[in-house]
Amino acid sequence: MAAADALAKVRNIGIMAHIDAGKTTTTERILFYTGITYKIGEVHEGAAVMDWMEQEQERGITITSAATKCEWKGHTIQIIDTPGHVDFTVEVERSLRVLDGAVAVYDGVAGVEPQTENVWRQADKYNVPRMCFVNKLDRTGADFNRCVQMMIERLNATPLVLQVPIGLEGDHIGVVDLIGMRALTWRGETQKGEDYAVEEIPADLLDEATAAREKLIETLADVDDSVMEKYLEEAELSPEEIKAAIRRATIAGKANPVLCGSAFKNKGVQPMLDAVVDFLPSPLDVPAIEGVATDGETPLLRKPDKSEPFSGLAFKIQTDKHLGKLTYVRVYSGTVETGNQVINSTKDRKERIGKIYQMHANKREERSSAQAGDIIAVQGLKQTTTGDTLCDPANPVILESMTFPEPVIEVA
Ligand code: GDP
Repeated sequence: MAAADALAKVRNIGIMAHIDAGKTTTTERILFYTGITYKIGEVHEGAAVMDWMEQEQERGITITSAATKCEWKGHTIQIIDTPGHVDFTVEVERSLRVLDGAVAVYDGVAGVEPQTENVWRQADKYNVPRMCFVNKLDRTGADFNRCVQMMIERLNATPLVLQVPIGLEGDHIGVVDLIGMRALTWRGETQKGEDYAVEEIPADLLDEATAAREKLIETLADVDDSVMEKYLEEAELSPEEIKAAIRRATIAGKANPVLCGSAFKNKGVQPMLDAVVDFLPSPLDVPAIEGVATDGETPLLRKPDKSEPFSGLAFKIQTDKHLGKLTYVRVYSGTVETGNQVINSTKDRKERIGKIYQMHANKREERSSAQAGDIIAVQGLKQTTTGDTLCDPANPVILESMTFPEPVIEVA
């Protein structure tokens, strides 16, 4: 029971974006607000580098790490690096396979760009629940509504717009939170603390906010039966009911919550983190993983439960200056301990689990074991390459049956 409770508070997420939309900045701000004790450096356009980032870059970890764990409001958020660039399709697919939900970051000026479109389609293929963060609303030419419209037209998404921006470009000072019907005004803090203050909705935005809230409820009614019932009865929905419906719709892949701000200016990152916790799934909310037996045919399911036989997927190999070869593994079922003999069922080889590490932004922590839902780095695996399954020798399963298309050779 305790384990299931803990698993319910885990969010394994990726951040996907077209290059330059602000993935790095958003990740930095998340790490900052989730408890990294460094201050954010001078905020100058184009030169926002947290001082700790430089130290970490030297050590070759942090967000260059394939997975980074942080804590937010009693939840564990594990950020899995999702390459945004189109050239790394196989890597993108593999990272999409091991995460449970994603945040798509958009440049509020450029809107939906080609690389996001690509990753979005790949995420469709793997049924990854997604929310959206429209970034850079401080920039000249930022247009939130146009970006939302592009999500509908280019991505075939069903945006659930949860905020109305208060001002754009230099005047972007906050948002109206349409669930709580209140204004959040950004503090733009470069120190720890809340990044917004709660205020009354500005009078000149009240009509627009009321209409946007109605639109939100209508969109929710289209994708959620219980909201539809209330909608038809013209009954009021409480903020808790709205949130629960948004969570159901997001996890079912029927809709995408949309929030906005400017990560670079420390505007809107905390409400986005709240939304990650509120609306994206835990490992318990996603279906059991499907694999096959070692005959390559018989279907097998592995549930996210520590009492199931151990299974995990190696999704990235990295070389760490101090630790040597590290294999990143998403554990899907059961428990694995340092020293355990497991099999690499993909290659039909025995492997011994060496040291197990939890990778954080600014440190790594050695653990003696890992369980379903965990994302860990394992030392000492000799034969394992990305895409391989590691599992209990008595209960073998092969998790990845991904086939990648042959490269297209153009004939002149
Ligand atoms: P990535 O390629 O998606 O990782 O994008 P980065 O996070 O590296 O950001 C690209 C550039 O946009 C950098 O110069 C950032 O400082 C800048 N940037 C990121 N977020 C914002 C924002 O909210 N507003 C503005 N004006 N610039 C931003």
